[in-house]
Amino acid sequence: WDEYTATVIKDSANVTFEEINLLNVYARPLVTRLINENFFKIFRLNLYKECPFWSNSQGFCMHKSCAVDTIDDWKNLPDIWQPETLGRIEGLMHDPPTTNGSCIATGIKSTKDYCEIDEINDETVYVNLVENPERFTGYGGDQSFQIWQSIYNENCFNLGSEQCLEKNFFYRLVSGMHTSISTHLTNEYLDLKTKEYGPDLRQFMARVGDFPDRLENLYMNYILVAKALIKLEQAGVLDRLRFCDGDFQSQESQLKSSLKKLVEPFCELGDTSRCLFNENTLFQSDGAGQLKEEFRERFVNVSRVMDCVHCDRCRLWGKVQITGYGTALKILFELDNHDSLSEDFQISKIELIALVNTFDRLSKSVASINNFKQLYDKAMAAE
Ligand code: FAD
Repeated sequence: WDEYTATVIKDSANVTFEEINLLNVYARPLVTRLINENFFKIFRLNLYKECPFWSNSQGFCMHKSCAVDTIDDWKNLPDIWQPETLGRIEGLMHDPPTTNGSCIATGIKSTKDYCEIDEINDETVYVNLVENPERFTGYGGDQSFQIWQSIYNENCFNLGSEQCLEKNFFYRLVSGMHTSISTHLTNEYLDLKTKEYGPDLRQFMARVGDFPDRLENLYMNYILVAKALIKLEQAGVLDRLRFCDGDFQSQESQLKSSLKKLVEPFCELGDTSRCLFNENTLFQSDGAGQLKEEFRERFVNVSRVMDCVHCDRCRLWGKVQITGYGTALKILFELDNHDSLSEDFQISKIELIALVNTFDRLSKSVASINNFKQLYDKAMAAE
């Protein structure tokens, strides 16, 4: 850990992990309160969409016999601990919880999207995110490995040099999301003795703690999503949002001021020279327009890969986070801060919900990483 901290903090021009840890102590209770609000906790998605990239019979399955990586002996465990049950979503709602669920937008639809958002149809379901936490589900083995592979493979750009900044950024973004998912599943790992979920240091070290680059990518994502929230506020988009939905109209000003309060201490990160992530260095070279378009298309493909995830709860949280990152990219790369274009920028209710929940996922990951660090120090001291 000490070696890792030293590597990360060596460039004093950057925001340090320590600074982010401190900012997160401030942000954690605020974002926790936000995601427990009715507006932010109900997520809309299609859980039954076919995988667009390969046939469902091609060996990707969500059966205990496929989930062989982390718990070896599924067959001796009771039904309640089988991956099909652990990965299930509780309390699915088929009817929209409100009449005008998607009515939150500004301007005309002119913005390019960085992810595919499920349209509302007969298969649409509504899920309470608070009642279906992201945690260990037993999903694993060849099928989840292949899904991660296909996501990383989207990083094969046709344009630009092999080692271009944008390609590196794409990889780090996906890797940071992967790190966050691994942090949550090891922080809420199923203990077969106590039958309860809790932090498993050994699993965390094997998947995250022993890989400084993975941790660095997660912190990069934290800054990326925080900067998107800041920009939403500073470009005036937050002020222009209208919660047309009757149930939430009365809460509009309270939810907006909570969001503003959340980003307040992060605003000094607007000085991009001090950031772990600076969006202004990307898409600047010759042919940048084409490269950005290819980047966008490839990220949309990553969002479509989520329909290939067979574990329902993993698919749910995969979709929430990919929509959150897609929204953050759209804000950072398509929203113009300085001219009237920002008037036309559109953000939907589902995108705002995903953005805030993705920030919560990263914030909880950072808090869990700090807790794992303490567990690690204690374990070392005891040796
Ligand atoms: P995996 O995590 O499957 O990794 C595969 C390979 O990728 C590794 O061998 C390594 O080479 C590389 N790798 C690993 N981490 C990183 C990183 N951060 N950056 C770069 N490369 C890396 N399981 C749950 O229990 N709960 C969930 O909620 C859940 N959600 C998921 C959501 C999605 C979209 C997907 C695809 C999977 C999800 N899973 C979930 C499964 C989980 O991510 C793992 O795939 C599974 O636990 C098996 O882990 P593993 O140790 O075999 O390696």
